[in-house]
Amino acid sequence: MKLYIKTFGCQMNFYDSARMRDALRVLGYTDTEDPAEADILLLNTCHIREKASEKLFSEIGRLNKFKKKNALLIVAGCVVQADGEEILKRAHSVDIAVGPQNYHRLPELITRFNRSKGRLVLADFPAESKFDFLPESQATGASCFLAVQEGCDHFCSYCVVPYTRGCEYSRPADEILTEAKQLVRTGAKEIMLLGQNVNGWHGEGAKDLGDIIRMLAEIEGLERIRYTTSYPSEMTDNIITAHRDVPKLMPYIHLPIQSGSNTILKAMNRQYTREQYLDIIDRFRSVRPDIAISSDFIVGFPGETESDFQQTMDLVQQVEYASSFSFKFSARPGTPASIMKNQIAEPIKTERLIKLQELLLAQQKQFNLNTIGKTLDILLIEPGKTKGQISGYTPYLQNTHIIADSSLLGQIVKVKITSATATSLSGKLI
Ligand code: SAM
Ligand code: SF4
Repeated sequence: MKLYIKTFGCQMNFYDSARMRDALRVLGYTDTEDPAEADILLLNTCHIREKASEKLFSEIGRLNKFKKKNALLIVAGCVVQADGEEILKRAHSVDIAVGPQNYHRLPELITRFNRSKGRLVLADFPAESKFDFLPESQATGASCFLAVQEGCDHFCSYCVVPYTRGCEYSRPADEILTEAKQLVRTGAKEIMLLGQNVNGWHGEGAKDLGDIIRMLAEIEGLERIRYTTSYPSEMTDNIITAHRDVPKLMPYIHLPIQSGSNTILKAMNRQYTREQYLDIIDRFRSVRPDIAISSDFIVGFPGETESDFQQTMDLVQQVEYASSFSFKFSARPGTPASIMKNQIAEPIKTERLIKLQELLLAQQKQFNLNTIGKTLDILLIEPGKTKGQISGYTPYLQNTHIIADSSLLGQIVKVKITSATATSLSGKLI
């Protein structure tokens, strides 16, 4: 039986899709890239911004054209948590809708559906942890995700995550180590630790994420460790100094600030100031001067004045980012910011986003240009776009293309960087 999965949104969703694949493999499903031959069509959805949510319904329309007579259409992910019943009402072809905390129950839901032919929604927050019920991870690949923490207790005034993913949960250290060793056994050289608030990890068996990183570094065969996404005020010295002490920990930190204005940060309910953020950046740079810094930004948050926006631009100038993600504020139903009075007009948001992205892209390009002439370790991950080319990532997470034999995929090789654009590097295998 064949399973077709399409994933939208963040890395956590890609991790969840891999775990759903594990759960369905037990029932005999294997992957297909062709929706027309699939017995299960599974869409893993994202609710973070309006545009992301809208994609679900256009994708359902597209898949309906391929859906075989007895194939199941399953919708999973954060849109289900927010609007599960609505999905079944609006899209008659959807058979099962399952929220992000319930996908370990997919085999049972499929059996129930096949018996009763009744359409099902499961979107509560169960007392049990799905991780205790999922089969061993079968992920393969040189670079793998591993969820160590989920949910969020921060309640930023614009964000749906605390409502769709629930409150914070940290997986115990031994469970993380077991999964990491399993990933290494099946070929992982790099593990990206995931959490909505990953540096706020506070599970059993270790003091903090810094200790988890140090424990993982002992695993033979694991060459690279990364983690994302961190919340500024939860950063610990033990994590920062791990960047000095643990060679396997890559010199890259994704630390979203969202806005450079303290007034806006307060309205966003972010629990730090611009000054505190800059201090954390200094601390990272003092232990690892070459560290690549990345962030998320939201422009056009309700009440954002020209001067607030200018403070974001000034902060970007000051930090000099290696890469970043930036978005227009999107009013999400049920969040406090969606009903704030002083919403910003769309053309102003667009104008600010263009200005910010121009600056961020110029910084990204400069960061990439600075690597020309250097020899860097590249973990080769996938075939490149042109024949004979393969690509991978530097320690600073720059996408790099080289001409080399595909037998090198999955290996870390030394590459001399010869050219750079804003989005990628090219180099010669040494
Ligand atoms: N937990 C991370 C943090 O606080 O930095 C962010 C996780 S969130 C899934 C990813 C990014 O989406 C956020 O950093 C923010 O920039 C963006 N985002 C979240 N809600 C948004 C909204 N309503 N409008 C625009 N961007 C939003
Ligand atoms: Fe959303 Fe991140 Fe804020 Fe949590 S900390 S509410 S995930 S933006």
